[in-house]
Amino acid sequence: MVINDQNKFQAIISHAKEYGFVFQSSEIYDGLSAVYDYGPWGSELKKNIREAWWNAMTRMHDNIVGIDAAIFMHPTTWKASGHVDNFSDPMIDNKDSKKRYRVDHLLEAAADEWIKAGKEKEVEQLLSEMEALLASNDFAGLKQLIEQNNIKCSVSGTNNWTDVRQFNLMFSTQLGSVSDEASEIYLRPETAQGIFVNFLNVQKTARMKIPFGIAQVGKAFRNEIVARQFIFRMREFEQMEMQFFVRPGTQQEWYAYWKEERMKWHASFGIPASSYRFHDHVKLAHYADAAVDIEFAFPIGWKEVEGIHSRTDFDLKSHQQFSGKKLQYFDTEINQHYIPYVIETSIGLDRMFLLTLCHAYQEEKWNKEDGSEDSRVVLKIPAKVAPIKLAVLPLLKKEGLPEIAKEIMAACRNEFYCFYEEKDTIGKRYRRMDALGTPFCITIDHQTKEDQTVTIRYRDTMQQERIPIAGLAQFIKQKMN
Ligand code: ATP
Repeated sequence: MVINDQNKFQAIISHAKEYGFVFQSSEIYDGLSAVYDYGPWGSELKKNIREAWWNAMTRMHDNIVGIDAAIFMHPTTWKASGHVDNFSDPMIDNKDSKKRYRVDHLLEAAADEWIKAGKEKEVEQLLSEMEALLASNDFAGLKQLIEQNNIKCSVSGTNNWTDVRQFNLMFSTQLGSVSDEASEIYLRPETAQGIFVNFLNVQKTARMKIPFGIAQVGKAFRNEIVARQFIFRMREFEQMEMQFFVRPGTQQEWYAYWKEERMKWHASFGIPASSYRFHDHVKLAHYADAAVDIEFAFPIGWKEVEGIHSRTDFDLKSHQQFSGKKLQYFDTEINQHYIPYVIETSIGLDRMFLLTLCHAYQEEKWNKEDGSEDSRVVLKIPAKVAPIKLAVLPLLKKEGLPEIAKEIMAACRNEFYCFYEEKDTIGKRYRRMDALGTPFCITIDHQTKEDQTVTIRYRDTMQQERIPIAGLAQFIKQKMN
């Protein structure tokens, strides 16, 4: 895949809208910035990715169970987690355009330009200085770095900057009808805290022994400042997080284990390893003793899709302190009470969705036998997560063909998502199914009436063959795996 291919990224965004995957939220009111809705095929694809993650975590691991915690939590949760004091990004405003930037994004965008101009050495220097200044929270130094390198606002074209300031990313709202400070609560900015506060409830009721994990999928909300990369950075999004509780001192080995395990999950989508890389954090969050991003080669560059963090005992210890309730585990193997350490894997469902689309989207051109050119846009989505698995297409709307097609639908729709279509020529219907990422189409024609066979057409190769109707669902299931 070509990195930094804005045209391709725009084409994917248009395709996602045209084919019912993703719409801008409240579009008829001109949309709400960085908030999106999933359409018929998008919600299906999203559900399938969510399920793939959930099954890989809970069904495939005896020692991981799931929960579904509320979005609203006691406000002290966010004091204890550090989000009230620390969940902020250094921002800078351009005085002429009034446009606000996240400092790291402004510098990274400049670095991208420099790379295009062949200034690799200077980029390395710039980014390492930026990381050091971010790590030490040196805001004056960051402003100086921006000014010294003459980094300009893309709107005004000037380098007339305000001071660098922190900006908290949490949304707040009021609980109940009384609007005073005591009733102010937050929309959770991550799902992890719902897991931490339930640590003992889950450990006891599911009778878990360390090491064990708790998985959760749910909405999270962040008032992102720079949010203009489609569903890459949203203000309302979904996270799939798993906290794995371990004996203190063993966190490094579990950290390595989960790095490997998560890469295996990504590989199960059939995406080549060369599209992924690890990026170790230089600046560690206040709770972490090691952290790495799994990055993917998006058309907008190498970007984070998942984080793996060794969170120490920070969260449980802090909740114990703020709540005054013991959050300890008694380890019968070593006869000791302790607060477990935690390895977290945290992936954005929407980002995984975008990754899947970016990898799947292909524009293909070829010459037909008569020498003329043909083309198609195809989503080569892995069959296991494709929104529609099987399209059932009677060649004609008459002569008993739709009736046979409907019988096939009835036999298969319990097994996987099937889609019936009788409008348009068969060629047009195939193209539409390619655009939706449907891996298998079957066509019912006159021969079907004679020998109870149908033509199956494979999305990726466009090859066709005849197969019997008997055992069709089983056949498709085998192909899917
Ligand atoms: P970034 O550096 O991109 O802001 P982050 O390091 O703050 O991300 P985490 O807090 O580690 O992200 O969240 C874990 C995962 O949640 C990320 O890897 C990403 O997939 C997803 N995520 C975070 N913020 C957003 C967002 N605004 N929109 C969509 N997904 C997000």
